[in-house]
Amino acid sequence: TDIAPSLLPRPRRLLLLLNPFGGRGLALQWCQTHVLPMITEADISFNLIQTERPNHARELVKSINLAEWDGIVAISGDGLLYEVLNGLMERPDWEQAIKMPVGILPSGSGNALAGAINCNAGLEQVLGLELLLNCALLLCHAAVAPLDLVAVTTASGARCFSCLSVAWGFVSDVDIESEKYRHMGAARFTLGTLVRLASMHTYRGRLSYLPAADATAHRPISRSITVAPNGRLPLQRLPLHRALSDMGLCEERHAFRGAEPAPAPCPSPGSPPPSSASVLPPPSFSFEPGPGELPAGGAGEAQVGGPPDELLVPLGQPVPGSWVTVEDDFVLVLAIYQSHLGADLFAAPFARFDDGLIHLCFIKAGISRAALVRLFLAMEKGSHFEQECPHLVHVPVRAFRLEPLTRKGILTVDGERVEYGPIQGQVHRALARLITG
Ligand code: ADP
Ligand code: MG
Repeated sequence: TDIAPSLLPRPRRLLLLLNPFGGRGLALQWCQTHVLPMITEADISFNLIQTERPNHARELVKSINLAEWDGIVAISGDGLLYEVLNGLMERPDWEQAIKMPVGILPSGSGNALAGAINCNAGLEQVLGLELLLNCALLLCHAAVAPLDLVAVTTASGARCFSCLSVAWGFVSDVDIESEKYRHMGAARFTLGTLVRLASMHTYRGRLSYLPAADATAHRPISRSITVAPNGRLPLQRLPLHRALSDMGLCEERHAFRGAEPAPAPCPSPGSPPPSSASVLPPPSFSFEPGPGELPAGGAGEAQVGGPPDELLVPLGQPVPGSWVTVEDDFVLVLAIYQSHLGADLFAAPFARFDDGLIHLCFIKAGISRAALVRLFLAMEKGSHFEQECPHLVHVPVRAFRLEPLTRKGILTVDGERVEYGPIQGQVHRALARLITG
């Protein structure tokens, strides 16, 4: 008897979008040599399209027939995936479209999401081609997980969907200023950090947020680290350490702090409460907005497409009474929703893909340059919260608003520069789907 072809399992079909200019421009070469043979072997069928300009991927994803694909994969840095997600959200059928599994094969200079996927899978933190190979293998496994997106609104009223972070101050300055070292790949952030440390700026601003009332504060978890037989961390993985040591900015005892105690595996939910005083537990009063406190549809009501931002009021109006506001001088403000800020920057070890949380982290002015260096070094292992630095604060929130009071500065959303001025966002839990392997 014959079996109808429709009953046979068909190979997965992936739409691969490749940015030939991401990172050091190696994406196509790495893809042809390493990735395509791997996914062919895994019986995945694919179309590979090279992007020709910024927003090409975004436009493409807006117009294609999604029924033809089982997943869309960005072979690039985080920037191209941002385009894919926003393209999906700009479709009239966004509600179904955003359920299309999306994946990333890291070959840009900013590979935060790939770092998070790699870590989530319990793999050792790696960079470059090693990270790409890990992610390609995970992609072949095909497992898909829900992914939070954050709707971000800027002063002009523009709204976008972000999957990584909103940054102001030190982090966004380094990100944008280091664009000129793009040819260096991930090392551009190392050099950028060094340059910025030499001239540490502070920024005055008003930061408001809606604390996540039910979010128990998290104990930071260190990822598993390969410790060399002599008990030291393998130095070749730590470019920032090495560079700072070479410059005499970092003593060995700092570079190796936190190598012990025994590292916990990366993805372990339900951790006990923190021991660190620098992690603020959410205040104990209720943060649910009272009836009539917000306009019916929230600030998102005026937007076409996408879910309404029911927690937000328009930027011109004061934040709801249930929010907390701090006005201060900051070295940086970072609203991050994934564990990684870069492939080797384990900035929010407690973050999960679908925890429904924005992890609001900020460093207040007054921190010494040495302490800031120590934090960034420790971030490579995700142990920076263990330093109990009084200037570093972490609050899990559902929504935030940042109003810069310093006239000039840089704001980024997922590593891309956006207009400078008031900015706010709220999390939409599990809106998208990520291929995690
Ligand atoms: P990187 O991590 O190196 O920044 P990304 O993949 O994030 O790499 O890409 C950076 C930017 O390049 C993105 O904003 C994207 O829109 C843009 N881009 C995509 N395709 C092209 C292209 N063909 N030419 C120039 N820029 C592009
Ligand atoms: Mg999250």
